[in-house]
Amino acid sequence: MAVPLYQTANFAFDGPDEVAEAMSGPESFAYSGASNPTTRAFEDAMAGLEGGVKALATASGTGAVNAVLQAMLRHGDHVIAQRELYGGTFSVLTNMAERWGIEVTYVNGVDPAEVTAAVRPTTRLLFLETIANPTGHVPDIPALAAEAKRHGLITAIDNTFATPLLCRPIEHGADIVLHSATKYLGGHHDVVGGVAVFDDERLYEQTWRHATKLGVLPDPFAAWLILRGLKTLPLRVARQCESALMLAERMTAHPAVSTVYHPGLPTHPSHSRAKQLLNGFGGTVAADVADARAFMTGLKLILNAPSLGGTETTIMHPATTSHRHLDPEALREAGISPNMVRIAVGVEHPADLWTDVGQSLDKVARTPAMT
Ligand code: PLP
Repeated sequence: MAVPLYQTANFAFDGPDEVAEAMSGPESFAYSGASNPTTRAFEDAMAGLEGGVKALATASGTGAVNAVLQAMLRHGDHVIAQRELYGGTFSVLTNMAERWGIEVTYVNGVDPAEVTAAVRPTTRLLFLETIANPTGHVPDIPALAAEAKRHGLITAIDNTFATPLLCRPIEHGADIVLHSATKYLGGHHDVVGGVAVFDDERLYEQTWRHATKLGVLPDPFAAWLILRGLKTLPLRVARQCESALMLAERMTAHPAVSTVYHPGLPTHPSHSRAKQLLNGFGGTVAADVADARAFMTGLKLILNAPSLGGTETTIMHPATTSHRHLDPEALREAGISPNMVRIAVGVEHPADLWTDVGQSLDKVARTPAMT
């Protein structure tokens, strides 16, 4: 019932011609830095879950972002990207702009006219994030992808926060869907991985060829762990969505909290789009807390940690971690305030989670700074 783990780097053949033949494309298995049966099982599962034709597993989510962008772009090309974006992807784009002459225009991701206004003869790609890390912003995927298509652009979207259970962006017009599998897909804080799913064989093949040159394919054991994680994805995501919404609602009412960012709240700017496009609002909640540092230090169950999407709930401070490379203006534009925290909910009992959040918020509310 479990997919076997082919923990091998190398495959042996009858002779040199067979080795050369096996190395010519992704379909056969010759070297696990290019393809592997366990990794392929994970890729096939992801292509199925996302409704794509092919998938390419990578050693991390960042590896998937780099493999796709580098495979699709050349020096002098132009990219349109969503402004509220995971900080690491923002850094990748900034680095590409500085070092490789690839220009980037940022848009809010709400109005397709922004895409029309940003398009240049050199524009190749539109980059979106289904539920933005950490603000919960949800772009108008169908409208933006349709506009991108009209201009011959490729639409790539980071679906990490939504998972294919909450949204299947290919059905809304995306060409490439990316994930950090380190998060919900793996789901246990024990593996780093990524994946890109393609709606087009040619884009897949182009990315595979480039990814093997970059050396970003995963170790088979990582693919095996993520495959095992996928078996419980629906159970975990359902629980995480339910607990995150509960925390978002309760935190909204607490005096130590000024703003809560969760697309399930009617007050969130993306709420109506999220209701249309998502089958659930995701497992993360961001909030502006009167004293973020004291709140984070005062937690007893929730863990201070950078990553998310696993069985244990984590909290982090985006301005000094995931988005630390952004200058104050870029931080403001990405919607991140200095006192924002991001809670990524795990599968603990919801009552335990609220007890922990509530006791730490109560302490913050009682400090002299609040009176
Ligand atoms: N995309 C999103 C939305 C993320 O939150 C992250 C990591 O936090 C990544 C991509 C990068 O993934 P990885 O840490 O697996 O490189």
